[in-house]
Amino acid sequence: MALLVAKFGGTSVGTIERIKNAASKVAEEGRRGHKVVVVVSAMAGATDQLLGYCRSVTPHPNPREIDAIAATGEQVSAGLMALALEQRGLNARSWQGWQMPLLTDNDHTKARILEINTKTMKARLEQGEVAVLAGFQGLGEDGSITTLGRGGSDTSAVALAAALGADRCDIYTDVDGVYTADPRIVENATKLSKISYEEMLELAALGAKVLQTRSVEMAMRYRMPIQVLSTFANEFGSDLLGTLVTDEDETMENNPVTGIAHSLGEARITLADVSDKPGVAAAIFGALAQAGINVGTIVQTGSKNGQTADLSFTVPQSDLERAEQALHDEQAVVGFQHLLTDKSVAKISLVGLGMRTRPGVAALMFKTLAEKGVNIQSIETSEINISVLVAAEYLELALRALHKAFGLDKE
Ligand code: ASP
Ligand code: MG
Repeated sequence: MALLVAKFGGTSVGTIERIKNAASKVAEEGRRGHKVVVVVSAMAGATDQLLGYCRSVTPHPNPREIDAIAATGEQVSAGLMALALEQRGLNARSWQGWQMPLLTDNDHTKARILEINTKTMKARLEQGEVAVLAGFQGLGEDGSITTLGRGGSDTSAVALAAALGADRCDIYTDVDGVYTADPRIVENATKLSKISYEEMLELAALGAKVLQTRSVEMAMRYRMPIQVLSTFANEFGSDLLGTLVTDEDETMENNPVTGIAHSLGEARITLADVSDKPGVAAAIFGALAQAGINVGTIVQTGSKNGQTADLSFTVPQSDLERAEQALHDEQAVVGFQHLLTDKSVAKISLVGLGMRTRPGVAALMFKTLAEKGVNIQSIETSEINISVLVAAEYLELALRALHKAFGLDKE
């Protein structure tokens, strides 16, 4: 008998019918002898609607009130799920973040979990009660309601699984696992039966949308296995049919590349004719850091006549305007001549543990792109990933070609 945390995402609880379907999965796991703790997201679209309400009152809503409002989405779905479970004859109750309590810091709209008090929940579990936790929300240090950032219910689920010492955290969603690439673009993408925490973390951070990045970080820290599986197939977590995110093992290094992520969410900024002298890069990136903007892939092109150089880097598209502003404010100090921006860029990233030991991954990647006439704008690498920036119009062509070249196409 295992203790499982089952998390249902927004589409899995998007309608009353779907909530009933999710409840039937929980009941079935119970019949198989497992104890199940449920974590739910808000019904699909609910959080967007609530945030829309906030913005229609004022363009700059107070983050404390944003959280008070946004957290209600999960309150509704947790209550409905508890009702649906009771309807199936189970003894269930809903829990809100403050009722546990699930304590967080006060960083509204992106709070971090500090501690989860599971004492009462554990005692009730022992008595056969099914707990349904409202995901995404917590109780801040000053007593206000907080939320954990968009997609944060994944993090609630993994954190609760770790705090309860669960055997596994099953994430029920609208896809049946983690794929070698986005199957909507690459028809030959295949489902992975297993992937390491490290690889999943890179894929999530580089654009794969299956799991919130922070939830994977947390799973890795606590060595909590996660299974991603579909709510809409006839699947149960205890059948292990989805993708298991777990510790690495030898078989995981068979292929140099495990999966390919992509992101259209970045923009490129080029500062032309920056004076080539010490302190300039510090001034540029200092200004961006001051503005709280994360910078990726920095490329500096060689000095022209020893006087000036061009510097380009990426920022999240959502931060582009603020980045431009911050740089213009510093123009006198930095001394660049022109600031150019490009939003139509795509980042493509190969991820795999096998890369650590196999040479030639970068070479094959660049050759494949060259053969398709795709120009590489910049390159970034870590121990287990290689990312390139290309013009967005080449995204699909490049993804399919790389998927094939690295032997990931299904037979
Ligand atoms: N409801 C929240 C959101 O839409 C949290 C979640 O679904 O994980 O971001
Ligand atoms: Mg989600």
